[in-house]
Amino acid sequence: MKGMNIIMKKKISSILLLLFIFITFITPHVMANSSLPGIAFTYSSPINANINQQYLYGKKRSDGWAHVGIDYPAPTGTNVGAAQRGVVVAAAYNSAYGNYIIINHPDDNWRYWTLYAHLNSISVKVGDEPNKGDVIGKSGNTGNSSGPHLHFEVRYRENTYGSTLNPEVLLARSRQSPRGAIYGFVSNRSNGSAIENVIIDGLVKDSSVAPSNRPFINLHTYVKAKGYGQMRDVTDFSMNYCTGQLTSGSYWVEYSHPSYYSFLDYISIASGGVIKRDVELRLK
Ligand SMILES: [Zn+2]
Repeated sequence: MKGMNIIMKKKISSILLLLFIFITFITPHVMANSSLPGIAFTYSSPINANINQQYLYGKKRSDGWAHVGIDYPAPTGTNVGAAQRGVVVAAAYNSAYGNYIIINHPDDNWRYWTLYAHLNSISVKVGDEPNKGDVIGKSGNTGNSSGPHLHFEVRYRENTYGSTLNPEVLLARSRQSPRGAIYGFVSNRSNGSAIENVIIDGLVKDSSVAPSNRPFINLHTYVKAKGYGQMRDVTDFSMNYCTGQLTSGSYWVEYSHPSYYSFLDYISIASGGVIKRDVELRLK
């Protein structure tokens, strides 16, 4: 009877082990939304602050470098949390990012990384395995930074500069704010190539609507980061714009660029909703 107990215990422990492996390693791979294949929507905001709308992902600086992340202005010392569970692969300092952390995430066979830069302090080390929301450091103003903020970056396929995705698309389904998200691909109708710097603007007839409540703020398309090829949004997901800051409602949206005929679209978006809009523009 004693022997039976040991066999039973072994069976139970091996079942528990399989269950643990399933929950730990397999479950995240099947969490992608079926209507939007490939994009992991399971990420949460790394900090309790608003995105700087003046300097969105893909925005070209005067020196030609594109912004490959999003910025959250926040007082030095604000908690920074892991956007998704994963393994810390870097916790270091360099002159550009200041104190920074990079976490590798299990989504899509470990092909996602998040980067947190300009930190005041780091509270994790390489090899640590934070869960989503665990505090990994405090925001700050270290490195090439013009004021206290968190620079948040998502890398896909390669953990290298420019191999990035717009973080806003990953955050689209996990936002707590009463806003909606839109993303899509704006391309040249004659050859299908992505177009850079198309201005996307929601047309609000009511002039009493405050600028902070306009449906779009400074939204534009992007294609390349200087010194790097096309961003992963374009090459891997046929996407070159995204915002998670849409006011809910129905309105006209204008896609405009000096070299192309403008295109008007009509959209309806609910709070927390996500829509995809691909647009082809015709050269003038
Ligand atoms: Zn930044």
